[in-house]
Amino acid sequence: MKIPEQKVFFALGGALIIVLAGYGGYRYWDLRVVRRSLEAKVAELGQSLAITEEALLLVREDNADLREALLAEQNKNAAFESQISNLAGAVGEISGTVGTLEKLRKIDPELLRKYSRVYFLSENYLPTRLAVVEPKYLYNTDVSELILESVSGFLRRMMDSAREGGIALKVVSAYRSFGEQSSLKASYKFTYGAGTANQFSADQGYSEHQLGSTVDLTSPEISGVFANFETTNAYRWLTQNAHRFGFTLSYPERNTYYQFEPWHWRFVGVALAAKLHNEDKFFYDLTQREINEYLVNIFD
Ligand SMILES: [Zn+2]
Repeated sequence: MKIPEQKVFFALGGALIIVLAGYGGYRYWDLRVVRRSLEAKVAELGQSLAITEEALLLVREDNADLREALLAEQNKNAAFESQISNLAGAVGEISGTVGTLEKLRKIDPELLRKYSRVYFLSENYLPTRLAVVEPKYLYNTDVSELILESVSGFLRRMMDSAREGGIALKVVSAYRSFGEQSSLKASYKFTYGAGTANQFSADQGYSEHQLGSTVDLTSPEISGVFANFETTNAYRWLTQNAHRFGFTLSYPERNTYYQFEPWHWRFVGVALAAKLHNEDKFFYDLTQREINEYLVNIFD
């Protein structure tokens, strides 16, 4: 039997449609499966993302807590440290005070005492330790001169500094005992007559020489010992530099206390000498109370 071509065609077409539809259906079903599984995956990922975000949030919160705790700890430490440093400060202050008192105990208060025609150093006073002034600093090397041991270094540095600056400076006398002073004055009286002797041997600087911290200086620039010393380069150098070594001119020109003694320099410590120099004052201008504040640091 002959199957008409048309039928064959339709049958084939139908089969093809069925196959295609089947295939389409299959693909459709397959894609849905894939899509579902993808959707499930996305959902899963989303969930895990949410979990991660949550965890991250928790971690952040934890971090914030930790930071806060750290800050609190740091504050505590700072408070503790400041307490410790306050305590250390207090201890330092106390030991400083003790140190100052201890230091002061060893310093002779006479070293910064003001003397006058009515207030003298006791004739029995003796300096603690005296040292020999090296002959190279002496005006007259035939005699030996003594200076308070704790002042000798300052004097040496001043004399060396002057020499380095081309200034000829010599020590005429330093420490004088009560007895020496009396006999010196007597000899001046003998040589020049009482009126002149009083001008430069002086009741005035006598106590300061007995302390051992005072020197009379001169320079080969003048022919005599003291006359016209105020005209020398040595004197000018002293007025500009002696304070750096703790020395001050006890009786400057036009002071209202005593007469001018340009050669007579007393050791009062660098701080006080510098104050006097800077404020253009002299030792006897200050009150004893003001002066006493410098006693503890006199040898610094
Ligand atoms: Zn003198």
